[in-house]
Amino acid sequence: MSLAIVWFRRDLRLADNPALHAACAAHERVLPVYIHAPQEERDWAPGAASRWWLHHALDALRTSLHGHHAELHLRQGDSERVLAALIKATGAGAVYWNRMYEPAAIERDTRIKQRLREQGVAAQSFNAALWREPWQVETRTGDPYRVFTPFWRNLRTLIDESGPLPVPQPLRGATAEGGATLESLELLPRIRWDAGLAGAWTPGERGAQEMLELFVDDAVNDYAEGRDIPSRHGTSRLSPHLHFGEISPRQIQAGLHRLLAGRSGKRPDLEPFLRELGWREFAHHLLYHFPATHTANFNPKFDGFPWAASDEALIERWQRGRTGIPLVDAGMRELWHTGWMHNRVRMVVASFLTKNLRQHWHHGARWFWDTLVDADLPANSLGWQWVAGCGADAAPYFRVFNPVSQSQKFDPKGEYLARWLPELAGAVPALRHEPWKDPSLLRRSGYPAPMVDLGESRAAALAAYGALKGR
Ligand SMILES: Cc1cc2nc3c(=O)[nH]c(=O)nc-3n(C[C@H](O)[C@H](O)[C@H](O)COP(=O)(O)OP(=O)(O)OC[C@H]3O[C@@H](n4cnc5c(N)ncnc54)[C@H](O)[C@@H]3O)c2cc1C
Repeated sequence: MSLAIVWFRRDLRLADNPALHAACAAHERVLPVYIHAPQEERDWAPGAASRWWLHHALDALRTSLHGHHAELHLRQGDSERVLAALIKATGAGAVYWNRMYEPAAIERDTRIKQRLREQGVAAQSFNAALWREPWQVETRTGDPYRVFTPFWRNLRTLIDESGPLPVPQPLRGATAEGGATLESLELLPRIRWDAGLAGAWTPGERGAQEMLELFVDDAVNDYAEGRDIPSRHGTSRLSPHLHFGEISPRQIQAGLHRLLAGRSGKRPDLEPFLRELGWREFAHHLLYHFPATHTANFNPKFDGFPWAASDEALIERWQRGRTGIPLVDAGMRELWHTGWMHNRVRMVVASFLTKNLRQHWHHGARWFWDTLVDADLPANSLGWQWVAGCGADAAPYFRVFNPVSQSQKFDPKGEYLARWLPELAGAVPALRHEPWKDPSLLRRSGYPAPMVDLGESRAAALAAYGALKGR
């Protein structure tokens, strides 16, 4: 009887899962396996918020598999050794998986594929995460893209509009001895700080579908404008679901068409939203073709940038949302509480750290890595380098976001500020943006005075940039 191992990794879903689908089509039985091996992601093992998500996502996958009378076999340790042991124990003749694109994962997977094939075990990998593989989108001269707009123009023509794959039927699961329990992976925090995350999210394939439906109900019609308003549910909030592979871009696209077809009224233009998914593909494209993007400046000219000396006290005030700049603090507290932050606010807090405080973008990328439920190496590296000015197709360094005018423009009534800074909620909106204008408000509320002068620190950042340009 032919048996295949399906090695689940960052593709925690049953529907539109090409590896699972192919394995079920070619074999009588499949053994669904998840191997917890954070050490194999080297310096970028999942942070605390991601581990919380992973625990619940695995739990959800286990429940979905149960619904099909199959078991999720959990293991921890070295992936290659675990797979070898399982092949020996079960007599599996093939291993199927969906690809990952981080440099450490590519190296590991290439090695494992080669070893398995040498041992006469069929090893097959698939694309479950992207519309197109990073190597399938190239310039006319066959090079990778470095600029988003032409990348997107090309990718848009390559998107395959065929529908997603169904959950394989039948899904005949096999079992193996000696698995680990989910609890033994110790993914949940020992000190339970995760109530805010639990209140905000439902990890898993079903949670992802519900989030997509909510997006269609609440936000898709007005996405082009609403996506910039942090107080609203104006975006899809699908990023952690996408990161863990609980939903694919193909499923999102097909799901939007299906859900909108059942509704009356004018059809929204989906292009602005699809373009954001295009940024996600661009991030993968960059990290694949330029595998140092998560550590090295994409623009090497920035290697000589005069960052200020690392200052832990400054960084900690930024992390805790105690900078005295309301939009920055509101964003950092939203992140701490929910594991997510609105995109516009991410840009503002990143600009404040790298420009007003002139701290290296690595400090910010690391903090996001530990606290975001959607922490994603390609997107996080792109986001930080973009704001810091050293990335591919980056915002020019001299663009320093002004957090006061940003909150006045995108949160005019100060609703977002009031939600995350309860000590300022009683103040009139104008003062929520600039509480230092009323010293008695600072005294009464305990909200800190600004840790830097925005104008002076901006000028210092521009002077530092000027020095770099002169080199
Ligand atoms: C400093 C900084 C760090 C960031 N770190 C991450 C990260 O670790 N993980 C992450 O998924 N996104 C990151 N982003 C991008 C973006 O902020 C989030 O993807 C977005 O806020 C997620 O919310 P959403 O799902 O509601 O987005 P929507 O507006 O609904 O967009 C749909 C999807 O498109 C993708 N997307 C949207 N914008 C971007 C973008 N700029 N770059 C790449 N993909 C994008 C995401 O997968 C998102 O879920 C970062 C941005 C900045 C400025």
